[in-house]
Amino acid sequence: MIRLEGVTRRYRSAAGERIALDGVDLEIGRGEVFGVVGRSGAGKSTLIRAINRLETPDAGRVFVDDQEITALNPAELRAARRRIGMIFQHFNLLNSKTIFDNVAFPLRLEGRPTAEVAARVNELLERLGLAEHGRKHPAQLSGGQKQRVGIARALACGPSVLLCDEATSALDPETTDDILALLDQLNRELGLTIVLITHQMEVVRRVCDQVAVLKDGRIVEQGPTADVFLHPKHPVTQAMLAEGEEAFDASVTPPGARLARLTFRGAATYEPELSRVARSTGVDYSILSGRISRIRGEPYGQMTVAFTGGDAEAAVAQLTARGVAVETA
Ligand code: ADP
Repeated sequence: MIRLEGVTRRYRSAAGERIALDGVDLEIGRGEVFGVVGRSGAGKSTLIRAINRLETPDAGRVFVDDQEITALNPAELRAARRRIGMIFQHFNLLNSKTIFDNVAFPLRLEGRPTAEVAARVNELLERLGLAEHGRKHPAQLSGGQKQRVGIARALACGPSVLLCDEATSALDPETTDDILALLDQLNRELGLTIVLITHQMEVVRRVCDQVAVLKDGRIVEQGPTADVFLHPKHPVTQAMLAEGEEAFDASVTPPGARLARLTFRGAATYEPELSRVARSTGVDYSILSGRISRIRGEPYGQMTVAFTGGDAEAAVAQLTARGVAVETA
């Protein structure tokens, strides 16, 4: 659905040249929710803005639905952007206009007939739970409601792609959940391809099928979210995932113990594999850290255990044979 080939963007200033995107290659499939994460300054905004050419790359090519966005003239670009909706961290609503008029704006810009505009806006306000707010102004709404208006406006022209630029970063955790559930629903119901950039790993964990990690304008790691988040390879990914987690205290490790990180996925998450294996191999285990959660709806459990006594080698082999991923120190 979206393809970036060797996309490069440099910014020149008095202080010199800064490379924001450094030859990025990326493919995003139709109907995917694709997350791009990275630290501040990694190039996330530049990347997402290259997709609808709010930023024009210095080199490389961008395709959306097999159309080369980087090759379009201004009129063609305007037409292409109707199929690429976008929402923003600070909503970017027109504060002097009503909610209805905000959502109607892109349709009127296209010169659609008044009756058609009204029908489409009302349908969107209804779908997004904003039906009673049409006559209000943005200042009268909460942050979550304003982002819903942003989404309604982005969907007005019936896009096949929705770009989300830190869309939940200005919202509290509960409202973030609400907006993420809405994006998930739009993805499933409309088959909308969603690209989101965020510095919040939790956002990716919750809604993204695929994730790419950006550092200094390059993609350093990429894959299905569960694979990348459960077995991060790059130090940046590891560090971002470790933030906010209880660091495990090596000093509590029992003497002579064998440390192992166990990852259970899907149905195995709820199976008593560890106690079965402990019984059959005679190992004892202490759980040093652990978490049970979901990634894009798939349950997983991940824990660090210390094996003592018994046959630790056999325990590792049996767990592996039962589909538990085991990483030993
Ligand atoms: P992120 O969204 O990950 O924080 P950005 O894409 O905004 O990263 O920025 C990537 C790099 O490009 C940063 O070093 C930033 O300072 C620089 N940059 C971004 N926009 C501009 C600009 N308009 N002028 C100069 N430098 C910029």
